[in-house]
Amino acid sequence: MTDNRERLRRFVLAASRWSGVARMAGPHLAGLGSILMLHSVTARPSNGLGLNDHLSVTPDFLDSAIADMKRNGFSFISLDEMIEHLGAARRCKVATITLDDAYLDNFVEALPVFESHAAPFAIFVAPGLIDGSVQPWWEVIEQLVMVRDELALPLIVAGGARASASPAEKLATARHLCELMTSRVPETYRQAVLDEMGGRQVATSPFMSWEQIAAVAHHPLGTIGAHTIHHYNLARLDEELALIEMRGSADLIAETTGVRPRHFAYPYGHVQAVGEREIRLAGEAGFVSAVTTRHGTLHPEHRDHLHALPRISLNGRYQQIGHLRTMLTGITTFANSRRRVVTL
Ligand SMILES: [Zn+2]
Repeated sequence: MTDNRERLRRFVLAASRWSGVARMAGPHLAGLGSILMLHSVTARPSNGLGLNDHLSVTPDFLDSAIADMKRNGFSFISLDEMIEHLGAARRCKVATITLDDAYLDNFVEALPVFESHAAPFAIFVAPGLIDGSVQPWWEVIEQLVMVRDELALPLIVAGGARASASPAEKLATARHLCELMTSRVPETYRQAVLDEMGGRQVATSPFMSWEQIAAVAHHPLGTIGAHTIHHYNLARLDEELALIEMRGSADLIAETTGVRPRHFAYPYGHVQAVGEREIRLAGEAGFVSAVTTRHGTLHPEHRDHLHALPRISLNGRYQQIGHLRTMLTGITTFANSRRRVVTL
């Protein structure tokens, strides 16, 4: 599913680095800076089929990445400061660190790294993942396929999976099930489908507690943002429910932490999850900014697109400083989209 895209990305990264194109692109493509995107940060990633390896980097890599960016002239600022910076549009190298989903390791393993660098960070929280009303389905599928020889599938996804033995077959099965989960299964039914498949019986990554989320909200370096209540793909919901999910996540976080989130991250954040309607709704829900998972550096033009800000992913499959340096030049933004300024 993602192999071809990843092969292309690897090629672009390597080619632009070795040819010196990235260096010559200079500030024109690099713009004002970047918003970095992370998920899990742990030295002990959970054992799986490799389906979710892109979502996890080590604390050592995070530490090296921040140190290298500082050596190369980057300052780290909060998301609030980044929005101000876009408005002022001064040319200097700044970066903001964001983490989606509030994995427990963000608090245990990443926070000490941020503190040691005095680097501000923002964590986007989906309350349903915190209270367990929904599971991280992408991990549930991976674990179910890994530990079971056969999966009894509910009617809604029937015909999807088969018994599989080799790791390659299991990975293919897991990817196929993920495809079904994001196409055939409505967002609001997904947890019921997982429950029927025995999803509550497999171990998934733990998330931060509400006490830890409140501690981050009140931490001098920390910002808590909203990420919908149930980690739904908003583009697959009707407008009324989409707005409830966006506003409701901010309401729940405000109630439990005492601080109302000003920033939002669209779950999944890709082109099938964020369109013009979702961008308008993020504004209507009262958020100052919203980030996607589209690949791109930031430019003065983004001040007019504060609810469609692209990010640079610290991808667990490419934990190399050279890749990060190349992406920060903006050359990969251009190579991916043929555009300097990525919004939708
Ligand atoms: Zn997420």
